[in-house]
Amino acid sequence: MADIVFRNVTKRYGGTLAVDDASFTVNDNEFFCFFGPPLSGKSTILRLVLGLETPDTGDILIGGKLVNTVSPAERNVAMVFQNLALFPHMSALDNVRFPLVERGVAEAAIGKRVADVAAKLHIGHILHKPPAQLSGGERQRVAIARALVRDPNAYLMDDPISALDARLREETRVELKRIQRELGKTLIYVTHDQEEAMSVADRIAILEHGRIRQIGSPAEIYDRPASTYVARLLGSPMMNILKSARSEGGVEAAEGTIRIADKTAPADAVEIGLRPEDIKVRPWMDGRRADGVSGRPARVFEVEPLGGYTVVTLEAGQARLKALLRGQPDIRPDAMVAISCEPARVHYFGQSGGALAR
Ligand code: ADP
Ligand code: MG
Repeated sequence: MADIVFRNVTKRYGGTLAVDDASFTVNDNEFFCFFGPPLSGKSTILRLVLGLETPDTGDILIGGKLVNTVSPAERNVAMVFQNLALFPHMSALDNVRFPLVERGVAEAAIGKRVADVAAKLHIGHILHKPPAQLSGGERQRVAIARALVRDPNAYLMDDPISALDARLREETRVELKRIQRELGKTLIYVTHDQEEAMSVADRIAILEHGRIRQIGSPAEIYDRPASTYVARLLGSPMMNILKSARSEGGVEAAEGTIRIADKTAPADAVEIGLRPEDIKVRPWMDGRRADGVSGRPARVFEVEPLGGYTVVTLEAGQARLKALLRGQPDIRPDAMVAISCEPARVHYFGQSGGALAR
């Protein structure tokens, strides 16, 4: 068992609160991701798990055992190095063997462990080749095998693929996700890339200035962000957050260009959040919206066709917002349009930015 538990852990560096009263449980075999902007405390949390730092207050448990004063070696948690590039002058096999050879593991044990990892990663048939003779995807699998060849209680990865180009990053994260599931190991993963966090993690912890703001599955956090801070971090384009006011039968935002007929809207909502993909854009005809509902028109500011999707930036009163539409709709800059959103898709936020239940 390698579940990892933080109970009210705080870590300061001088005047800086790097980790602020963090409590969480990473379950055995879970792919758990920490996500937040630079300096939000991600790497410090990993160093606390590894035992390279000790908490000022609070407890850290690994597999049910208190490890606050246990040395890094005894914790048997492995930090996977940042660089997934292979040594070009060594065969794939020697690359995979390298971390074990470096640690002086006995030859028989190396052979067994490498065979085991190679079988799980389906790379046994390419191990004799040098990296130059491998495809991009094969190279990534070999690099991951090398990263995983030790057999610790849990793996930690600190932004492991940020140095790769975009295409290779997309390939590698899929491999990582698949491999983690096949190996059945606890993995704590740090990234500053929201799409990567969403794509790989079973659960994500969102950090802000050393504080955990929300923990949940990617879908939970995306669909029910606990605050405007979290809402803005996940999603591209990001959620539109607009000042709102109660109006007859619901809520109104952006000077009447958006009207939400939602009688269940919380009375203390001061902002609404609309995901770009939830915004409907329709032509404005003869001073009326195409669907006959009253309101005011918005103006199309710019249109970005992305192939499968189109991002439309709208001017609605003093506000700018983005809608994500399927395909390539016939919408031109400066057109007047009606914008709407299903009441069930609207997020409500209160005075301090916290999400409000209906
Ligand atoms: P992240 O990995 O999210 O970028 P870090 O955990 O590296 O964040 O840093 C969290 C905060 O702690 C930052 O304000 C950073 O400047 C500070 N910090 C981290 N390590 C040290 C250190 N060794 N000495 C002093 N301050 C540190
Ligand atoms: Mg860091």
